[in-house]
Amino acid sequence: MPEAGVPHVLLASILHEANSFARTPAPLAHFQRQGIFRNAEVAERFGRTRTEMAGFLEAAAEAGWRVTTPIAVPCAPAGPMSSAAFAIFRAALLDGVRGAGPLDGVLLSLHGANVVEDEPDPDGAVASEVRALIGPDVPMVITLDPHSNVSDRLAAAADCLTAYRTHPHTDHKETGLRAAAILRRAMAGEVRPVVHLARGHQMRGFDSCRTSLPEGPMRRALAIAREMERSDPGVVEVSIQSGFVLSDVWRVGPTVAVTGDGRDGRFQAMAERLMRFAWDERENDTVPMIAVADAMRQAHAVPAGPGPIVISDFGDAPGGGGYGDATALLRAVLDDPLPASVFLSIADPAAVRAAMAAGEQAIVRLSLGGHTAPQHGGGPIEAEFKVLRFSDGRFTHEGPYTPGMIGNFGPSVLLSCRGVRIVVTTFQRNIVDLQQPRIFGIEPESCGLIAIKCMDAFRAAFAPIARAVIACESGGVSSRVQTTLTWQHARRPIWPLDAADVVAKAAGYAP
Ligand SMILES: [Zn+2]
Repeated sequence: MPEAGVPHVLLASILHEANSFARTPAPLAHFQRQGIFRNAEVAERFGRTRTEMAGFLEAAAEAGWRVTTPIAVPCAPAGPMSSAAFAIFRAALLDGVRGAGPLDGVLLSLHGANVVEDEPDPDGAVASEVRALIGPDVPMVITLDPHSNVSDRLAAAADCLTAYRTHPHTDHKETGLRAAAILRRAMAGEVRPVVHLARGHQMRGFDSCRTSLPEGPMRRALAIAREMERSDPGVVEVSIQSGFVLSDVWRVGPTVAVTGDGRDGRFQAMAERLMRFAWDERENDTVPMIAVADAMRQAHAVPAGPGPIVISDFGDAPGGGGYGDATALLRAVLDDPLPASVFLSIADPAAVRAAMAAGEQAIVRLSLGGHTAPQHGGGPIEAEFKVLRFSDGRFTHEGPYTPGMIGNFGPSVLLSCRGVRIVVTTFQRNIVDLQQPRIFGIEPESCGLIAIKCMDAFRAAFAPIARAVIACESGGVSSRVQTTLTWQHARRPIWPLDAADVVAKAAGYAP
């Protein structure tokens, strides 16, 4: 029997960032590799992490809430979620809500940039279904990734939206704690939170929400947001989303959600003011993107010294839905290696099997990588490779990005060619953690060059040990150049698909 007077709160997370340009949907097996956690498993698995779920659980324990935790799906970006996987996650969540009995509050952790094969707005869909089940009076606070393409439906279903405030994201848990604190105030009747959403006329903005540099558009936007909260006690939360641009959906692009105590025009005006800031700063990208050949030239020009040079390929980043098997950067490293060069990683299950069949120390001839879409970031590399060692591909993040989370490359091999050590894996993974090279016996601090596939998240772990960090663009499917993609569903006009003056006129922005 539920204890009288003890609040009952449902906690759940379904996190997926979908690159809608990726050719293959992410099947259920993709999520199973990362783990799908139900009921008691949720506290068991996430209690030791620094995720938003860990924040929910800690706040719930502190407040003495009774919790129901029907499902938690960790984030592993890829192509669109398969319909079959979504049906399972959705049913688990909604059955959890139905079976929970009377609820006093809901904390959901969603990404906001999920797309399912046949549902362009799954986050909005599940949030509105939960809302329909709990009714209008039970408060629901939803945490988001700031690379969220927030839909009107999602904003309408939530009483408050709050996104991480760092990129690389290192404040998942703090975001969970903040959401729980807001829920607590709402359940106590101290505030009646209402989301006021402003949507821009651009596909990207807020410098992709980067906070890795001491100065930049996102840091300035966050400062304005905090000032709005300080100066008006009616502001519950100002949440800034830079959007996730590799998503051909109507709602693609940045949004600002101002949660106010009640509905009021001044909250909407605050949200619009920050979206205007995003427009004015739209060209301000703090990470210059260069071609692979230029990145190699720059790397060779870096003065000698301790620590590796880190080159990241933005164009084939698994964290942005890249296939993880593009070869343009690997080819450039092989053509002109630096001493102690390492490449992480190429996803090529057939190459892994062939290397494992040949055995350690064998020489194998492989057609490595580039099989998924050779036109995006380079086709297979035909060469002889020495097999150095095998690994089961499992690692635990040491952080600062998602410490405690378990990752899985699947069966993997370390090869060498022309003095370059190359990690070849079964599954594609973003490279974000120093444990990822270490499981192959590679000490990242002692490398001369580490070439990786990642957009920005690697900076949290790799920048502190790096002699230099260089970002390049191989032309893969997570490329930053939107105008080369074919767009069908994005609302128009929108920058940069449409000219800035056309968009400004349609938006009513004074020049
Ligand atoms: Zn993100």
